[in-house]
Amino acid sequence: MRAAAVFPTERRLAVVEDFPEPKIARPTDVKLRILSVGVCGTDREIASFVYGTPPEGYDYLVLGHEALGEVVETGSEAAGLFAPGDLGIPMVRIPCSDPNCAACRADRQDHCETLQYREHGIMRLHGFMTEYVVVDAKFLAPVPRALGRDAVLVEPMTIAEKAFIQVDHIAARLPWKSQRRAVVVGAGPVGLLGAMALRLRGYEVVVYSLERAPNPASGIVEAVGGRYVSSQDESTEQFAAKEGPFDLVYEAAGAPTAAFEVLKSMGPNGIFVLTGVPGRHGNVEFDTHGIMLNMVLKNQCLLGTVNAGRDAFDLAVADLMKIQSQWPGVLDRIVTGRHKLENFAEPVLRPTGIKNVVDL
Ligand SMILES: [Zn+2]
Ligand SMILES: [Zn+2]
Repeated sequence: MRAAAVFPTERRLAVVEDFPEPKIARPTDVKLRILSVGVCGTDREIASFVYGTPPEGYDYLVLGHEALGEVVETGSEAAGLFAPGDLGIPMVRIPCSDPNCAACRADRQDHCETLQYREHGIMRLHGFMTEYVVVDAKFLAPVPRALGRDAVLVEPMTIAEKAFIQVDHIAARLPWKSQRRAVVVGAGPVGLLGAMALRLRGYEVVVYSLERAPNPASGIVEAVGGRYVSSQDESTEQFAAKEGPFDLVYEAAGAPTAAFEVLKSMGPNGIFVLTGVPGRHGNVEFDTHGIMLNMVLKNQCLLGTVNAGRDAFDLAVADLMKIQSQWPGVLDRIVTGRHKLENFAEPVLRPTGIKNVVDL
């Protein structure tokens, strides 16, 4: 069968035509026919050979970690959980094998302590940009058919859900509702989905991003009742003075300079969430004294978060369903490009629009 692959040593991308079709090997296995795979910046970095590790014995890595699949076959034990025709989202990260890793042994590999985890399409495991995959039922989140093709957004939505589960834990340190005003930095898919999740939770949301409005992303932000400000119209200082202070900052741009500038505009008891993986840039100077002073005197919290647990997958599905009914059609506006497998290099290397998807 066909698979979209990256050959890191040869530094090339190609469709492998004879990728072996996987078979059910264990009673807990589920075989999926892949319907769609979302493309993101991680794929682009892998395709630029910045990182990405093929599984042992392979000179290539099959790309793709944001997949929507349809169950075609199950092992005997998985049969109680999934039936042919069901839709599911395979989880990206698989636990490490260290018996002493408390996180992985508790099925919370998103908090793996050894960092020896494997990730589909990223680290030592083939990805989902192929026709069929076999995964353990434990690492497959069910999706109702009603969510339709928007379900390809579940994996990027889990980033927001995991973040807000943690924000709720931190906010619980105060006996009143302390989280009201949020800024989302970055208007890519993770930022937009985060903004929607925050609107569902009743936050006042302003999205701060590079491109001038009106643009497709600013239209989406306004459609869900948020506001959009371009950094070309307001410098971070102007923006912070006008819009701040914020109770929550959700950083989804991977832009260290903007992130730490916005950090200054966080209010008392504020929570700052970092989700964007920064590219390699030169060092930037910061007023570390001011940042530290502010954080201490205002009881602020800085939180980094990556990947997601099963609870976040279930919440992502539930919230996407809510978004579909509250703001019909808005999720469709995030997916701006649909591509065929043979053309996968195009959206991976030269993405346009907001979110690109490869349909199998
Ligand atoms: Zn991704
Ligand atoms: Zn682990």
